[in-house]
Amino acid sequence: MKKVRGINMFIQEQYLELARKIHQENPVVDAHFDLAAEVYERHLTGESGVVEQRYLPRFEEAGLNIVVSSIFINNRDLPELGLRKALGQITALKEDIEPVGDRIRVTKSRAELDENLAAGRISVLLSLEGLDPLGNDLSLLRTFYDLGVRGAGLTWSRRNAFATGCCTAGQFKEIPGGLTELGKEAIRRMERLGMWLDVSHLSNEGFRDVCDLAEQPFIASHSDAWAVHENYRNLTDDQIREIAGRGGVIGLNACGYLTGVMSEREKTEREGAAGAPEAAGQNADAALLRLCEHAEHLVRIADPEHVGYGFDLCKGLEETTPRIHFETEIYDVLAHHGEMVKLTAALLQRGMDEATAKGIAGGNFLRYYRRILK
Ligand SMILES: [Zn+2]
Repeated sequence: MKKVRGINMFIQEQYLELARKIHQENPVVDAHFDLAAEVYERHLTGESGVVEQRYLPRFEEAGLNIVVSSIFINNRDLPELGLRKALGQITALKEDIEPVGDRIRVTKSRAELDENLAAGRISVLLSLEGLDPLGNDLSLLRTFYDLGVRGAGLTWSRRNAFATGCCTAGQFKEIPGGLTELGKEAIRRMERLGMWLDVSHLSNEGFRDVCDLAEQPFIASHSDAWAVHENYRNLTDDQIREIAGRGGVIGLNACGYLTGVMSEREKTEREGAAGAPEAAGQNADAALLRLCEHAEHLVRIADPEHVGYGFDLCKGLEETTPRIHFETEIYDVLAHHGEMVKLTAALLQRGMDEATAKGIAGGNFLRYYRRILK
């Protein structure tokens, strides 16, 4: 059988063709991408048209219909600059994509989402990766809602006025603590406003608090499976069942440190492997296979309708602004959104049925957003 040349040698052409067809004919979603933060930083250096130049061709290659852009604030900008930077990111992203509004738009409602799908336009949904920009002023939640923000996680790994995160980011050591009273009130208000709750980056204790309180289904937009790789950013089987049982969706994360694979450089340094191209190719294969294992585990535990893609591709933002010092090098298992098709092909080749692959590629997250958005 003919195999595709290039980095992932094992994928057969027939599965790539099927995956391309699935991506072009069905909803495709990336539930987590640090786009606004990158656009904001690049605008500061004088660049414009960031999304058009750097991302739109790959988005379109992947048949992407919805991308959720996080609003992400660095540790070093908190507390003073949190609000300013969050507002700046929202404005920068809107300005950046305005000239290509026929191809991609910030989207605030179910009706707009459906309109974009019918017109073949990409929807950008905004989500706060941590409520830190609010400080301890919950009235600002409504302000962000009015600006178009439709989802939020209470925290990005760290501890803030609302909750404790899953771990000290960069080291992945668990820190104790759950939701504060303000965090609980935030969830009630989000549910009233029609915003989704994202529990990626939340502590295990916080997760239990959310389960006690939440009336609406919630998501983990970019988390993998603890059973495949033990990392406090990943979900235990019980957590996976809980999210799925309530009608939520789990987004498969393609970051090397969550999937449990090292970058080629790191592998070479640690294991002294020869830097030959074949070795690099083998490592890329191993990384993609590991990502498949996470996807397959999530599907097994959650059922197929509750798994999606939330790749958290980090390279672009890291180029402009390194977030923190990670113990392991940042490594995206998928080099860019165009490679989404490759992952879907690999899953199909490993035996995933077509209906499951369609749901994971985007149908499941679309159904969820349509349920939560007004
Ligand atoms: Zn994240």
